Amino acid sequence: MNRVLLVATTTGYQIRSFGEAAGRLGVELVLASDRCDHLDDPWRDGAIAVRFHDRMASLSAVRSALADRPVCGVLAVGDRPAVLAASLATSMGLPGNTPESAERSRNKLLTRQAFQEAQLPVPRFSVVPSGTSPVQHAAHVSYPAVVKPLALSGSRGVIRVDDAASCVAAVDRVRTLLLSPDLSEERDAAHGYILIESFVPGREKAVEGILSNGRLQTLAIFDKPDPLDGPFFEETIYVTPSCETPAVVEAVTKAIGTAARALGLRHGAIHAECRVNEEGVFVLEVAPRPIGGQCAQVLRFVVGAGPEASLEEVLLRQALGEDVGHVTREATAAGVMMIPIPRRGVFRGVSGVEEARAVAGVEDVRITAKTDALLVPLPEGRSYLGFIFARAPEPPAVVAALRAAHGRLQFRIEKEVPLV
Ligand code: ADP
Repeated sequence: MNRVLLVATTTGYQIRSFGEAAGRLGVELVLASDRCDHLDDPWRDGAIAVRFHDRMASLSAVRSALADRPVCGVLAVGDRPAVLAASLATSMGLPGNTPESAERSRNKLLTRQAFQEAQLPVPRFSVVPSGTSPVQHAAHVSYPAVVKPLALSGSRGVIRVDDAASCVAAVDRVRTLLLSPDLSEERDAAHGYILIESFVPGREKAVEGILSNGRLQTLAIFDKPDPLDGPFFEETIYVTPSCETPAVVEAVTKAIGTAARALGLRHGAIHAECRVNEEGVFVLEVAPRPIGGQCAQVLRFVVGAGPEASLEEVLLRQALGEDVGHVTREATAAGVMMIPIPRRGVFRGVSGVEEARAVAGVEDVRITAKTDALLVPLPEGRSYLGFIFARAPEPPAVVAALRAAHGRLQFRIEKEVPLV
């Protein structure tokens, strides 16, 4: 049986990549995504309608839709889908993570507690209910600290604070964000709390890996060469392989493996973030899903003698029951720049794209912002202007190409005219 279920938020670039990989492998991909079931297939993708906030109803909708076409594996794109995917895999007796471990990974407080129990280095942390003023609490926090929601991603709502006054202001700001319509709609109990933890200085890494029976195989370690010191933490450049010494690479790999075990994760893709300093490796998070959005395109893998494979193809192969233990990333260095939104405003267009594409080593420049759309930067926003991809023999040349290409782009962002 060559059928795999993919749980996703909505249709998007990554879903298309999974579709293409499924086509190459001759796999039927069934989609389950969050939408109203009385809309008749609005995206014409035949997806099973689920609601992430209603797990029992979603489980039964998927199980009845799959009653006469069973799947051999379940994959997820995104944090909330990963929790439902874990429940589905468990209920269908398929390889996957337990629902508890997926839930723990998505919740930054539960993650901190699990890491602490596993004796991994963790920043000092505390939580405040998002509905109350944290003035008293803020007086006892040691600064610098980071204020963050428990269950958002992409650095949304993550704010560095250097004193009690800025801590109180940041908690207010995160509270307002959590009350915004798109987040209230999630009906997530985790949005009732805000985490405050010590700021961890250090060099940040992202790790892409795959778990098989609890054993972690590292697929790529990315350096993030731009300093991420706050007050907001917009991602920019990811480049792999890492330029750290073999000893640091080994320490990062070991820490991520321990962190995944501490969370109870055992199967499938993981995307992890950590900071490295003289005290050791501080794992910030391990999510049971692949790297998000278009960034996965930066990864290419050698799978036997065939053509290079995408990350999505490697994950589908595992879902089909293949042993992917031999899969390695290509030898070339590769990187992506997530082009940050410099300021709030209306996007009127971009020039210099062809010039940016012409930079040696640059493979693609994709502008994803829509003309005339309102651009919202971090900490409230959750999108980028676009992505630049580069490849070169060594990581520093990749970084130089990404920066040069970015320098050739001029974005026109107009002040938004307030509605009266
Ligand atoms: P998200 O899941 O939204 O990405 P994270 O907790 O991973 O949230 O935080 C986003 C970014 O904020 C991290 O990649 C890191 O750069 C920064 N950050 C988060 N927590 C800390 C911390 N305790 N110390 C230093 N930087 C942090």
